Amino acid sequence: MLSADATRDVLGALMAQHPGATTELAFSNPFELLVATILSAQTTDRRVNQVTPALFRQYPDSRALSAADPAEVERLVRPTGFFRQKARTIVGVARALTDRHDGQVPAEMAALVHLPGVGRKTANVVLGHAFGVPGFAVDRHVLRVANRLGLAASPDPDAVEAQVTAVLPPADWTVASDTLILHGRRVCRPAPLCDACAVRRSCAFAGAGAIASARAPRRPARAARPAAETPRGLRGRAPGRKSR
Ligand code: SF4
Repeated sequence: MLSADATRDVLGALMAQHPGATTELAFSNPFELLVATILSAQTTDRRVNQVTPALFRQYPDSRALSAADPAEVERLVRPTGFFRQKARTIVGVARALTDRHDGQVPAEMAALVHLPGVGRKTANVVLGHAFGVPGFAVDRHVLRVANRLGLAASPDPDAVEAQVTAVLPPADWTVASDTLILHGRRVCRPAPLCDACAVRRSCAFAGAGAIASARAPRRPARAARPAAETPRGLRGRAPGRKSR
């Protein structure tokens, strides 16, 4: 893993590469962001943004959604995939909010993760963007990029959250997560575009020559499996060399 200073340097350089990184989900209040984040699992924010206007017109708050006809909710969220499960989850969350929180979304991690179907990733997105409470959300992009760069070393999202936030000031947690998400979507994809990466010289994954295997086409079932990825104040800082 990188040192604390090197981690901050790398994140500062990525923030410079992706200025203004923030969630791409459209929302106007904490309830809408909570629902939109749940719907964003296994699909794109753009797809979610296509369905939520009609969903929130019909069910503008948790009380309305808690009394919804499940079949109608399924119809509205169908384009996001896994629509039966997602419809069940958002109606269940709405009922829990109505029953336990007077219809309001709580602004505390402990209360959010006790809502059905809400984990730390969703809770951190809501805290960071709806309430201005520092939250470092670890989605699949953050998990991949943080491990490749050596910002963290774990396949467990909770461990990655703990490792990265341990070396960052809380004020930077939300923007650091948003930046890594954008970097994972635009540059450090599963087959990474390292020539376009601002921190290539600091990257353990690139330095280890693992890019060729990441870019290689999927092998036939009987062939050997490709090697797994090797886990191996921010703004304006130049990226440093990795340290171990
Ligand atoms: S150098 Fe390549 S593998 Fe490393 S962070 Fe950048 S895009 Fe990802």
